[in-house]
Amino acid sequence: MENKKQNPETICVQAGWTPKKGEPRVLPIYQSTTFKYETSEQMADLFDLKASGYFYTRLQNPTNDAVADKICQLEGGVAAMLTSSGQAATFYAIFNICSAGDHFVSASAIYGGTFNLFAVTLKKLGIEVTFVDQEASEEEIAKAFRPNTKALFAESISNPAMNVLDIEKFARIAHSQGVPLIVDNTFPTPINCHPFDWGADIIIHSTTKYMDGHATSVGGAIVDSGNFDWEAYADKYPGLTEPDDSYHGLTYTKAFGKQAFITKAVVQLMRDLGSIQSPQNAFLLNLGLETLHLRMPRHCENAQKVAEYLQSRPEIAWVNYPRLEGNKYYDRAKKYMPDGTCGVMTFGLKGGRDVSVRFMDSLKLVAIVTHVADARSCVLHPASHTHRQLSDEQLVAAGVAPDLIRLSVGIENVDDIIADIEQALVQLTVNS
Ligand SMILES: *Cc1c(COP(=O)(O)O)cnc(C)c1O
Repeated sequence: MENKKQNPETICVQAGWTPKKGEPRVLPIYQSTTFKYETSEQMADLFDLKASGYFYTRLQNPTNDAVADKICQLEGGVAAMLTSSGQAATFYAIFNICSAGDHFVSASAIYGGTFNLFAVTLKKLGIEVTFVDQEASEEEIAKAFRPNTKALFAESISNPAMNVLDIEKFARIAHSQGVPLIVDNTFPTPINCHPFDWGADIIIHSTTKYMDGHATSVGGAIVDSGNFDWEAYADKYPGLTEPDDSYHGLTYTKAFGKQAFITKAVVQLMRDLGSIQSPQNAFLLNLGLETLHLRMPRHCENAQKVAEYLQSRPEIAWVNYPRLEGNKYYDRAKKYMPDGTCGVMTFGLKGGRDVSVRFMDSLKLVAIVTHVADARSCVLHPASHTHRQLSDEQLVAAGVAPDLIRLSVGIENVDDIIADIEQALVQLTVNS
């Protein structure tokens, strides 16, 4: 694609796949495990990374690369890759720069799956995490860093706590400690938030959510800003700055410059771990991306009305939606996400946990599903579902109250969504 920067709407619709004469207008699904070459030497150069090209879909596939390129342009990065899931994206982003004996720091209010990955699975690999309260002072958070700390991680809007990250503060802390800031930008998407503009170095996504938007395909993405200077901390990041024996002593930062991080994640981690997104799923993700710029404003508009409605109801104990006036994150959300946050909010009903469960069971249009951030409105009770492995203490640290209902407002007619909520609220008093 040409280098001139286009507007997000145009990138959503057109970027990534640019057909030449006689080629399909729509991004084709390259449903092929492998790619043909004319000479043995051509293939050998690919394996040595002397030439770039496709040879096996576990490493790269043209459909996936076109979609990664679109996401890269939306985030304003220099390189990107797709993964089989958001979990794989998070794992690769950390594992690309951390190995046994290393440590990283993460905000504690994060997605439940990410919390488990960090606290349990990475620990088994010898990688340690320290969780911090993202609202603590810079001095306090800096205390969590050690000589072997390799990254700082947080979510731009945390799922499900709905905390809005002070991205500039986190970038300052990361950079004063000589590590990159990795931001999970799943909830606001690049339509509503640009973490690179505020100092983030690497962005990851669960594309399963708004990017796909239709709940068809699990997927993930990693985007690199190209801004973190690995060479300046060469002894900390030997995987990037020292020769890789599995490629005849090639050094990623020397051979690939600003593309080093993503290139290593593709040719080393994807080669060895194989969490590739299927080209079929990448195709569906691309269709979703084509309307992301239309859907996000509608999600926000609907959610705003639903949040205001909930707040007006006597049955509701509290509502947490960053763009609701009086919300703790209102001003920060306006700064980092001036056009809106996303369609997700949380709230609690008076009477606590049991009432919350009864309310959810009475909903008809709004479905109970283990999903969030797609076109159809849905609800989840994290304490009973996604976060049920967490102790009460961990629940509090993750910002999940026992009565918390996560509501993901879709793009249906908002009056119908509110009517469904209303009938479920009315049933609570009828049946109590
Ligand atoms: C869902 C989610 C993930 C995990 O993504 P999967 O695609 O389900 O693996 C990571 N981060 C956030 C913020 C999420 O909402």
